[in-house]
Amino acid sequence: MSERNVTSKFVYDFTEGNKDLKDLLGGKGANLAEMTNLGLPVPPGFTITTEACKVYLDSGAEPSELRDEVSAHLDALEQHMGKRLGQPDDPLLVSVRSGAKFSMPGMMDTVLNIGLSDESVAGLAAQAGDERFAWDSYRRLIQMFGKTVLGVDGELFEEALDEAKRAKGGAATSDLDLGAEDLRALVDDFKAIVAKQAGRDFPQDPREQMDLAVRAVFESWNTDRAKLYRRQERIPGDLGTAVNVCSMVFGNLGPDSGTGVAFTRDPASGHQGVYGDYLQNAQGEDVVAGIRNTVPLADLEGLDAASYNQLMQIMETLETHYKDLCDIEFTIERGKLWMLQTRVGKRTAAAAFRIATQLVDQGLIDEAEALQRVNGAQLAQLMFPRFSEDARSERIGWGIAASPGAAVGKAVFDSYTAVKWSRSGEKVILIRRETNPDDLDGMIASEGILTSRGGKTSHAAVVARGMGKTCVCGAEELEVDTKRRRMTAPGGIVVEEGDLVSIDGSTGKVYLGEVPVVPSPVVEYFEGRMHAGADDADELVAAVHRIMAYADRVRRLRVRANADNAEDANRARRFGAQGIGLCRTEHMFLGERRELVERLILADTDTERDEALGALLPLQKADFIELFESMDGLPVTVRLLDPPLHEFLPDITELSVRVALAESRRDANENDLRLLQAVHKLHEQNPMLGLRGVRLGLVIPGLFAMQVRAIAEAAAHRKNAKGDPRPEIMIPLVGTVQELEIVRDEAETVIAEVQAATGTDLKLTLGTMIELPRAALTAGQIAEAAEFFSFGTNDLTQTVWGFSRDDVEASFFTAYLEKGIFGVSPFETIDRDGVGALVRSACEAGRATRPGLKLGVCGEHGGDPESVHFFHEVGLDYVSCSPFRIPVARLEAGRAAALNKAGSDSR
Ligand code: PEP
Ligand code: MG
Repeated sequence: MSERNVTSKFVYDFTEGNKDLKDLLGGKGANLAEMTNLGLPVPPGFTITTEACKVYLDSGAEPSELRDEVSAHLDALEQHMGKRLGQPDDPLLVSVRSGAKFSMPGMMDTVLNIGLSDESVAGLAAQAGDERFAWDSYRRLIQMFGKTVLGVDGELFEEALDEAKRAKGGAATSDLDLGAEDLRALVDDFKAIVAKQAGRDFPQDPREQMDLAVRAVFESWNTDRAKLYRRQERIPGDLGTAVNVCSMVFGNLGPDSGTGVAFTRDPASGHQGVYGDYLQNAQGEDVVAGIRNTVPLADLEGLDAASYNQLMQIMETLETHYKDLCDIEFTIERGKLWMLQTRVGKRTAAAAFRIATQLVDQGLIDEAEALQRVNGAQLAQLMFPRFSEDARSERIGWGIAASPGAAVGKAVFDSYTAVKWSRSGEKVILIRRETNPDDLDGMIASEGILTSRGGKTSHAAVVARGMGKTCVCGAEELEVDTKRRRMTAPGGIVVEEGDLVSIDGSTGKVYLGEVPVVPSPVVEYFEGRMHAGADDADELVAAVHRIMAYADRVRRLRVRANADNAEDANRARRFGAQGIGLCRTEHMFLGERRELVERLILADTDTERDEALGALLPLQKADFIELFESMDGLPVTVRLLDPPLHEFLPDITELSVRVALAESRRDANENDLRLLQAVHKLHEQNPMLGLRGVRLGLVIPGLFAMQVRAIAEAAAHRKNAKGDPRPEIMIPLVGTVQELEIVRDEAETVIAEVQAATGTDLKLTLGTMIELPRAALTAGQIAEAAEFFSFGTNDLTQTVWGFSRDDVEASFFTAYLEKGIFGVSPFETIDRDGVGALVRSACEAGRATRPGLKLGVCGEHGGDPESVHFFHEVGLDYVSCSPFRIPVARLEAGRAAALNKAGSDSR
């Protein structure tokens, strides 16, 4: 990174950074700097850059300059604060917190209260006038340090803490019941645990504490759970984390202290208001961990009106400054408010759409920016069905609607079972009292997550929202017993492991059994059954309508549908398709028509073959008439037959058995015998690389001619009926221009015949798929004979990688994903560097030959958000995808076009 080369600077004071330096300072560090510069009350501190982390991760050692730089910044901090780190009579204490470019909640390490030691604990007690507080802070340091820096099993500390509470007579349920003496004894216990487990004493030198904690944060970048989270969220593995060293402020100094989290708007609905949780007399992590129950943020007004009012003002400042929903962590130390963190907050899909339009209305952002505040994955999520409102399932609980969606699955009570069951195809709901980062695998494997404790900002809620998973949390009336693998609801209803439950992440309701689902209002809107302009229009639908309008206004890419029947074509048109980009004609050869194809394959003579083709012709023609009518006035790309013919014949094993059995009964069927012969003849070891696509057209006389005739006659029919048919004939699996030329000549003859016979001028265009590497490499030549290219990125990915598209995803892709060879299947998102490079060069070569060459894509990637951006960049004219993905493609095409005007990334 240039900053490092220019300045060789590994440490930045909070006063030196700003919000745009996330790459270098991480999200937390950049935003702490931004808040500092806004004049907000941020405890002073400094940030060690991601560059330092990268050096450490690459070489196993901190950069040599780091120690001196840290010393200089620490000196400055000590001067500013008027006390030294760990100073015995009045210690400066610091927190050491991780903070990567993208937030990874709970994934990496944090150590608080660095600087406390056997000596300075007394100084802290004297300064705070509170023995209990000092010992509590010290035991927290040893606990966090022991666990995260020295690798001691955290359970051992928890057990010792529980034991101390039990020793108080069992009545103690909260750590607040432990007094100074109890905590002092606990510190001894904790130190003994460290000495035994880590084989060394807890370090008494404050600087050593700090240096070791910084190193531990660097190392936490590469824990298994952090890696898993990054893969899920598609965060690159080489970014590294920054480390924030921040002077401590305390929320656990008595009832006039506390800590909380807040949102400037409701992250579930987008509505403005006071949203958040507050925990009196508690320190930092207690809120997020959901360990003790919080009060709503609004209650702070009654507890400390001055801090509350100041917080409200700061929240307004932040929203106006960031022009977006912000989430905030704050601490009040004896009536003084401190801001510990802010960032552009995660939100539900529905809230993202609403907030984007609300901010446009407030004049804070423009339409182009609004498009960057939502994405196709969120829109896809909004198109999921919801639970039916009049379903009569038994409601057994009602928690907090933490992350929307309707999830049904079998109850499981631990991550291990969630993963195991889901691998065997079961849908599961993970039920826990609360979750922690160790539950991540289970959360990924589940349809939804249900917890009995914790609020909207608990680990379960934050992580589920990030993943787009349904989550209900804090359903307190449900008693979760993970040891016995069961949950008890009011009235004694018991849900055992394996029982079906349904959870509604939009309302927070929990049901026993399977609740039926209904379509989402967003789909109803796209279907035209719900109107965005109606008086009682759903707020979300209205927001989606507006955002889609912005996208449609700016996008350059057109969006077509992959559809081969009138029903799909009609839906596609309602969803905004601007034509059909791929009609796979093989789908028209199935069902009862399969027999006609069999006859074609078995034909021994020209007459037999012509008869079979003659029988197929009117059927094909009728199909096309219907399709051209649905898409009247819009282009319809009809692809000639592509799959190997054996796909239309019976399975070789089944047929062999049938023939063998019949022969043993001496009543073998003549047709079956011929079929078996044909199946053997057509059998291929690698059918995907065999007789398919254009090759069929070249070796089966009359096949493509029949299809072209059906298209031309259907077009003539529509013309005569005053329609406006716009067919485009597409040849699959071309590898060389010669193949295309032969088929083209034949097609032109047929078209001329039909035009003459019907007296119409059809203006049919003829083009090809580019789905083989050779086609892409010789695209300049192929463009001589093609009026359009449509990239078949399914086959192109298959052939460029040498991956069988039918096998690899199920066989070894999981291993590839786990090893990080790629973050996402190349069949899902276009591989920019390999397949994408071929697409790009083929576009350039094709257009060099034929400047007006129309370019599109009809592989699965046409509906994939990231891929749509790529296709925009390389200059395609359109993407084509399945009808349900059309809105997503429209939105992403708009986002891609607007990206140059605006830019943000709220991962
Ligand atoms: C492709 O290969 O990308 C394509 C659209 O064709 P099919 O999936 O039918 O092979
Ligand atoms: Mg293909």
